[in-house]
Amino acid sequence: MIRVSSDLAARLKKEEGFNAGSCFHCGTCTALCPLGYKILPRKLFREAMLGLGDEVRASIPQIFSCLLCRMCEANCPQGVRIAENMRTLRCLITREDFDLT
Ligand code: SF4
Ligand code: SF4
Repeated sequence: MIRVSSDLAARLKKEEGFNAGSCFHCGTCTALCPLGYKILPRKLFREAMLGLGDEVRASIPQIFSCLLCRMCEANCPQGVRIAENMRTLRCLITREDFDLT
């Protein structure tokens, strides 16, 4: 069963720093990430924007292991602020009032 968190999707829309909507899934970020396939920003951000709280919750170790090195976003053709988006997800997850379910 797929559960959708309208809270997650709505909160991300309000976050000024979160700009993953312009991602066109080219895969450059994944190819350049020193953590490789453990991060998959394009998959993670799409899941977050769709409000797939279970999937985002399952990726918490990856979200918090991102080095914020910006290797990915320096070469993103769409100007997605990947490290900032990761930071935004971390903030949402750690806020006490945030519900991923
Ligand atoms: S490099 Fe940018 S446009 Fe390409 S998949 Fe990653 S975030 Fe999306
Ligand atoms: S900022 Fe995070 S996702 Fe981007 S290359 Fe560095 S470790 Fe990978």
